[in-house]
Amino acid sequence: MSPVEIYLSELALSLGEQQQYAAKRAKESLPRARERLKDIQFKRGTILAAVERAAPHSHLHEIARQIDKDLAFAMAEVSSLELEKDAAEAALTRAAHYVPLTDKGVFACPRCWIEENLSTGVEPQFKASVLEIYKCPSCSYRFSIDYEYHPEGVLPRSQNQAM
Ligand SMILES: [Zn+2]
Repeated sequence: MSPVEIYLSELALSLGEQQQYAAKRAKESLPRARERLKDIQFKRGTILAAVERAAPHSHLHEIARQIDKDLAFAMAEVSSLELEKDAAEAALTRAAHYVPLTDKGVFACPRCWIEENLSTGVEPQFKASVLEIYKCPSCSYRFSIDYEYHPEGVLPRSQNQAM
């Protein structure tokens, strides 16, 4: 790998770290959300049993409708946290297997690779003898490569930023 490719791989890893936090957050929220879901399922069972014996216009029917809404909400919460966790974990794995060049030999956007599982070629925005700035046409991620100071020919001059 060339120094630029190594540098891009490091960028990918640092983007992957953000995914690690996302996975951790989702993982930490899951137990509570699952507990809420279980509580609601239990309450719903009790209420439905009571509704069967209730008069047609009993307020229990209203309570049963509300608990169905709560149940749908709790289920959606759990499944969205699970999706978030799985997506972040998959992204984290991809960060470690980033390939810095597309099959056309262009630098591949590290963010598209990690977040979308795509090898998107970035486009040069600025090119001078010692500095190059690239931007991803798909996700607008920008990064710069500075050739001036680095002993191996590459150094990121500024903080790389996601636009
Ligand atoms: Zn991109």
